[in-house]
Amino acid sequence: MKMPKKPVKIAVVGGGAAGLTAAVAARYNGAEVTVLERMNRVGKKILATGNGRCNLSNTDLSINHYYGKNPKFAYGALSRFDFYKTMAFFEKLGIAWKVESGGKVYPVSNQASSVLDVMRHELEALGVETRCEAGVRDITRKNGRFILHLENGGIFKAERVIIATGGKAAPNLGSNGSGYALAEKFGHSIVEPFPALVQLKLAADFLKQIAGIKFDYEAEIMADKKSLARAAGEILFTNYGISGPPILALSRTAGEFLHRGEKVTLKLNIINYMSPDELEAFLLNRLRQQAHKPLAFSFVGFIHKRLVPVLLKEAGIEDINKPAGQLTAGERGAVLRILQDWRFQVTGTNSWPAAQVTAGGVDVKDVDQKTMESKLEPGLYFAGEVLDIDGDCGGYNLQWAWSSGYVAGESAAVS
Ligand SMILES: Cc1cc2nc3c(=O)[nH]c(=O)nc-3n(C[C@H](O)[C@H](O)[C@H](O)COP(=O)(O)OP(=O)(O)OC[C@H]3O[C@@H](n4cnc5c(N)ncnc54)[C@H](O)[C@@H]3O)c2cc1C
Repeated sequence: MKMPKKPVKIAVVGGGAAGLTAAVAARYNGAEVTVLERMNRVGKKILATGNGRCNLSNTDLSINHYYGKNPKFAYGALSRFDFYKTMAFFEKLGIAWKVESGGKVYPVSNQASSVLDVMRHELEALGVETRCEAGVRDITRKNGRFILHLENGGIFKAERVIIATGGKAAPNLGSNGSGYALAEKFGHSIVEPFPALVQLKLAADFLKQIAGIKFDYEAEIMADKKSLARAAGEILFTNYGISGPPILALSRTAGEFLHRGEKVTLKLNIINYMSPDELEAFLLNRLRQQAHKPLAFSFVGFIHKRLVPVLLKEAGIEDINKPAGQLTAGERGAVLRILQDWRFQVTGTNSWPAAQVTAGGVDVKDVDQKTMESKLEPGLYFAGEVLDIDGDCGGYNLQWAWSSGYVAGESAAVS
């Protein structure tokens, strides 16, 4: 451990993934560190990550997995505290790790709690003070020192401050957006936040009929007839719209366009394992074989049966119980189209409590990419989701928290 003569006193605001990493890094570099956390314990969100398994990183950390007004900003911290340094850091703390499909990295224990446990243990071993129920409501500066005004009435003084308060996603786990006002106080501007990695709301009056149906489909997000992004995998219809990993993956793009007031369309291909020609030949054959059966029933065994009446109505077929053999060529064409090009208007995303991540946040234009220090207020640093950087689903958001946290902590301690 490198020990400067007089330890610099650092306050880390927020004990999440970024704040805890910043605290460890600052202490490794000789600083005297206190974590101020508004909840009754630190790291609540870490426990919820990866369905309780903590997808802590990804083997492919290319910058095109990151978003924001200037996603390249993320490269600074991600290259300084990269995948290998992150994994070495966790290995040193005791986390054995494994790589799963899509390059997703998990602790071998499959327990998010193990990640938090080892971090808390390290903080304790290093002598980092953590104060819970110590939300910071304001920060002022006097004679070069920061004065942190706490929600509980107390004050805390420090020479450097790291704001690691997270965004607005999952406020039940602590991140209520309060960090934005702290940043604005020092002249930072905020890129208006909106929920990301979140379910989509759809305009359709039949959603209750098909809620709960889960299948492997392909989904595509479109605006102004232009394809914006597509993803495939398990999709779930819900009472309000649609969910599942591909939908969460597309929600960032959908949210961004909705936010700009554009009309967003979701296109579903529910038979994505056949080409249009294959599907046409298959359907023709099937309808011939089942010509005597009621039309709706002729799809049973091929399409989820709760979906069949909805799909046929959507294809504009009035009498869904007429014999399958009576389907006209035009009606067959409409059914084929619905099966591979079913369109919904996206009316919105679910809100903050359902979101995993915040898009938007503190504008990175006024933050030094190499050190995470404010360009407007020397001694003030930022780390994690509070900044206008968010990543794809798959370990990218936690990696951003670890990397930006480590760099902020190290820089604040040695500057
Ligand atoms: C359900 C869920 C699952 C997820 N799964 C994954 C996953 O598997 N992999 C992945 O990469 N990402 C995942 N994410 C996203 C990831 O967890 C976050 O991007 C990451 O935790 C952000 O870290 P952070 O430290 O910046 O913010 P947070 O984790 O939000 O931490 C901020 C902390 O600051 C505290 N705080 C806020 N305001 C104040 C204040 N004024 N004063 C004091 N303290 C304050 C909060 O209480 C909180 O403890 C998931 C998110 C959710 C909600």
